Amino acid sequence: MGDNTLFLRLEGPLQAWGSHESKFVVRRTSEAPTKSGVLGMICAAIGVPRSEAALEWLPKLRSLLMGVRIDKPGVRWWDYHTVGAGMQMRIAEAEGKTKDGPLLTRREYLCDASFLVALQGDAALISKLEKSVRNPKWTLYLGRKACVPSRPMIERPSGEYSDLVSALTSVPWRKRNKEDIAPKTVECLLEWTPTKAQPEAPPDALVWHDVPILFEPPSHQPRFLTRTSFVVGTNGDVHLDEKAAQTGTPTPPRPRADYTDSAYRKARAERLDSDHGLCVFCKSPATTVQHITYRRAGGNESQEDLRALCRLCHDAVTMIEYGLGMGIDRINPELPQWRDDIINKREEIIKFRSLETRRRRPSAEEVE
Ligand SMILES: [Zn+2]
Repeated sequence: MGDNTLFLRLEGPLQAWGSHESKFVVRRTSEAPTKSGVLGMICAAIGVPRSEAALEWLPKLRSLLMGVRIDKPGVRWWDYHTVGAGMQMRIAEAEGKTKDGPLLTRREYLCDASFLVALQGDAALISKLEKSVRNPKWTLYLGRKACVPSRPMIERPSGEYSDLVSALTSVPWRKRNKEDIAPKTVECLLEWTPTKAQPEAPPDALVWHDVPILFEPPSHQPRFLTRTSFVVGTNGDVHLDEKAAQTGTPTPPRPRADYTDSAYRKARAERLDSDHGLCVFCKSPATTVQHITYRRAGGNESQEDLRALCRLCHDAVTMIEYGLGMGIDRINPELPQWRDDIINKREEIIKFRSLETRRRRPSAEEVE
């Protein structure tokens, strides 16, 4: 099998792992590195331009399973950031007045965080990636430019492991500086994909929309994550919590992620066809197919799990879902109870997008 697991130490004064939620004026960071952010960094190490990544590299890199151990969660922090100085943008002031000036945006960072990332898959690919990260073609940064790593990312050579749990428990927890106090446990986010034995995601699985399909323009697919806690021993050794394992917290199996597989493509095409290629909410031409549940996502979808939507209705539904922090079961846009919410959110998006194009042209660095 060979060394199938690459380890990356992601540590620095600042990190910012922008997610689907970070496209607007308030740019948040996820609590841990996203798959999109890590694969983007790997592309920089290899020297693949963002515009060309989807041709050859992204399909290979997406197939790697990713697990993240949060060795130090870091502290959330905002910076002072203006955009559009000199562009004469109209900005709102008190009492309904406006004036021209730069727009204040907010960017969120994680300060002093430390993550151990494991990427698992084809041994030949892993070996190539390790070489590239050791000797990167372009500068590597932790999610956002200016977030520089404070130590070499390859702290430990690649190895052969049967799954993400055994890989992530093989590396001891270590103090990063004198002030660090060893935690009793460390949290882990592990990618979950369906298998024959376990075709449905565990009910407490998280859904992150961070599997990159394209970097330019950014386009992502969802994946499942499970959250697991590892116990940290007195000498820094890390192991699975036996008690949690006994109470049935599912340990993730080790299949390959494949949202682009032919079974899903067929289900998607059939759903578009049965919805006559039209958005089920507004009857515009449909460009996306939405999961109303992720219970069978990844190739086992039934027609009932999917709905054709146009881009605008899709974005409205997705934003409402995020706002509500929904889990596996999502909004069915055909149900009357969602009608007003979707109409209002569509209006909000249209208004926001027209303002957004008027007042800011993001630089290349800001396009995440
Ligand atoms: Zn629509």
